[in-house]
Amino acid sequence: MSTHGVRPKMLGFVSEEASAWLVAFVALLVGGLLTALLALAAHALYQQQLRQRFDLLAGERYSRIEERFQDQVQRLDGLRRFFVFSNEITLEEFDGYARPLLHRTQAYSWAPRVVASARREFERQASQVYGRPYEIKQLTETGELHVSAQQPVYFPVLFSQAQSATRQPFGLDMRSQVLRQDTLQRASTPGSMAVSAPLNLMDVEPAYARGVIMVAPVFAPEGSAPELRGYVMAVISLRQLMADGLPSSAQDNLVVRIRDLTGPDIQHEVLFQSDNKSARSPLVASHLLHLADHDYQLDIRPSQAFMQANQSSAVTAVVFLGSLLSILLSALLFSLFSQRQRALKLVEQRTGELLVSEQSLRATHNQLRSVLDAATQVAIVATNLRGVISTFNAGAERMLGYSSAEAVGSITLEALVSAQELHQRASALSQRYGREVSTAQAIFAQPQQEDGSAAQEWTLQRKNGSHLLANMLVTAVLDEHGLWVGHLAICIDVTERKRVHEALAARDRLLEKLSAEVPGGIYQFLLRADGSSCFSYASEGLRDVYEIDPNLLRQDATAVFERIHPDDLERVRASIRHSADQLTPWREEYRVVLPTAGLRWVRGEATPEPADNEGTIWHGYLTDISDLKRVEEELRALSVTDALTGIHNRRYFQERLKTELERAQRDQQDLAVIMLDIDHFKRINDQFGHAVGDYVLRSLCQRINARLRRTDVFCRLGGEEFMVLCPGSNAEQALRLAMELWQGVRSVPLDGVGQVTASFGVAGWRPGEGADALLLRADAGVYAAKQAGRDRVEAELP
Ligand code: GH3
Ligand code: MG
Ligand code: MG
Repeated sequence: MSTHGVRPKMLGFVSEEASAWLVAFVALLVGGLLTALLALAAHALYQQQLRQRFDLLAGERYSRIEERFQDQVQRLDGLRRFFVFSNEITLEEFDGYARPLLHRTQAYSWAPRVVASARREFERQASQVYGRPYEIKQLTETGELHVSAQQPVYFPVLFSQAQSATRQPFGLDMRSQVLRQDTLQRASTPGSMAVSAPLNLMDVEPAYARGVIMVAPVFAPEGSAPELRGYVMAVISLRQLMADGLPSSAQDNLVVRIRDLTGPDIQHEVLFQSDNKSARSPLVASHLLHLADHDYQLDIRPSQAFMQANQSSAVTAVVFLGSLLSILLSALLFSLFSQRQRALKLVEQRTGELLVSEQSLRATHNQLRSVLDAATQVAIVATNLRGVISTFNAGAERMLGYSSAEAVGSITLEALVSAQELHQRASALSQRYGREVSTAQAIFAQPQQEDGSAAQEWTLQRKNGSHLLANMLVTAVLDEHGLWVGHLAICIDVTERKRVHEALAARDRLLEKLSAEVPGGIYQFLLRADGSSCFSYASEGLRDVYEIDPNLLRQDATAVFERIHPDDLERVRASIRHSADQLTPWREEYRVVLPTAGLRWVRGEATPEPADNEGTIWHGYLTDISDLKRVEEELRALSVTDALTGIHNRRYFQERLKTELERAQRDQQDLAVIMLDIDHFKRINDQFGHAVGDYVLRSLCQRINARLRRTDVFCRLGGEEFMVLCPGSNAEQALRLAMELWQGVRSVPLDGVGQVTASFGVAGWRPGEGADALLLRADAGVYAAKQAGRDRVEAELP
């Protein structure tokens, strides 16, 4: 296939659209036709050659046969002359002359003319010659020889020299048989010669029996009236004449047939026919042969051997080669066409794809242009390698005051940057790298910023000379081979941003200072919908509150909840949830366990509001209220403690009784109270003074406290009346305890006072009973003990 460009037509004349199959078919058809024509021409040539060869062979055969015929005539004529010029010929002379002539002739004979009167003498002389009886004979209808009847003239065979050793028809009167007689009559003039009609030769091998007899009259040479002396005859077997000395029938190229032309067409007898078979061929050569006065037709046809010998493989070869070439050619054309068409289709497809990608490229280019121009807030400037501007978008026009036409191809990126700043950076870079860095290089040297971006802040110079602060990112532009072809600078005006940034920073600093003055910390707490939380703002004060770095809390608030005392954690969580659900202010006091400060109390207050992205955000503060709590607890302790004895006071007892009663009720537990009143305390006061009375009160309290269980609650109701609250004890157990306490009081005398006693009442709580009823029963017990003489324990009253 041609590799030189695209040609409009395949092979210059066949349309590209033609189906490969059609082309192959046409090629096959044309090839077939050419092959057929060539085969026809080859066949014609072969036929012509065959005819020439046949004509040559047939001509040669005809010449030979004609020569043989003439030879026969000449030899018979020679024999006749031999008789004409000899007066008397003996048998020996005849034999001597005729024997050499016997060549393709069955026999030569001499039949003298014998008149009836001379018959006897003739027969006698002949008998003498042959040494056996000789008689003139005639041939019967059945082909037998009999002694001839009386005839006026006889032509009996006297001499005969034959090839075969068979019997000779000596004595046969040639006139005795019609055909022979007819022949003799036709050869009646001197010099004439006649040939008989075909007849069965006598005394000849059967295969050679069909033949003719050629006769020539012998006249006496002298005298004006020639006198017929007899006939010389040649007995000719046509088979011998035709086949002798010629190739055997199996090898003979020709089939020869001789027909006797005497008589009408249909009676023309075939005298000789070759044994071999003739081929089926129109080739034939017919010649006329003369033998004396007779005509014969010689038909020569090619034999099968001839056809075999001259078989032509040319036609077959032509057909075979032609067909093969046609098939190969059509296959080649098919392959060429189909490959070509495939290639063309591919080219078409690729062209289409290229068109599509070109369109998309154009669209992309337009989009890019639009994007470039739409980015009015961003200056996009592309330069070539020398820094000369090649692209200047609408944002750059707006930002820098140059039009695109002014900038492109005329000014460099360097010219847009503050010269002073550029020189400063160039010298800084020179120092850093220890070699000269040009201002142009300084622009493109983009030190990686700490925040990872490559953008750098530059002071740019507008066309009108004013300055603006821009964030400029300069990147290399590479072509498709990765070669550096220019730079792309993207600038964002950060003047306003920087102002806002600075204002924000100032605000942050203010907040920082204020929060530093506030006890505790202020914060912004964000609780997201997924349950996670963080302190989106946490002042430094929070570091002390939780002993956690506020920066960590900005990420995640989990650490805070780990600091909260386990007993308070659930309460804190619940209150946060409640605040978030109801959007009510959150206020909570709770304990935190800190690694350094240990247990501390914290108070928090915050106001919730819904966050932008699902969740709740609180703004509030946290303070350490541990000192406050301690004071509070001290105050509380004071409020429930009896100042004189240090045990719980009546208020505490009442609160506690209420709590324990509720618990007993709820948990179906026992509860009992023991009430005691010092006997005749008034007397002690009176006798030893009020201070001793106070001492007695304190001492008794110590003794009783020493005997109580941890769970028992010991209170001074007032004056010298006390109450022991026994959670978990029934009346019986309380009675036992009361007995112990009673003994403990009375058994050891107090220094300076002596024995002090007390009266005890016991009451076990009964389910459903109120505090007043219970106390009343205890009080009734004390009263009963007093009544019974004091210094005793009164068991529970019914
Ligand atoms: P009884 O055996 O019947 O209980 O006789 P009593 O003297 O103990 O009974 P009473 O209730 O009449 O007297 C109680 C006295 O306790 C009266 C009061 O002066 C005295 N008293 C009350 N509070 C104090 C106190 O705080 N200190 C001292 N020293 N005495 C007190
Ligand atoms: Mg008393
Ligand atoms: Mg009393």
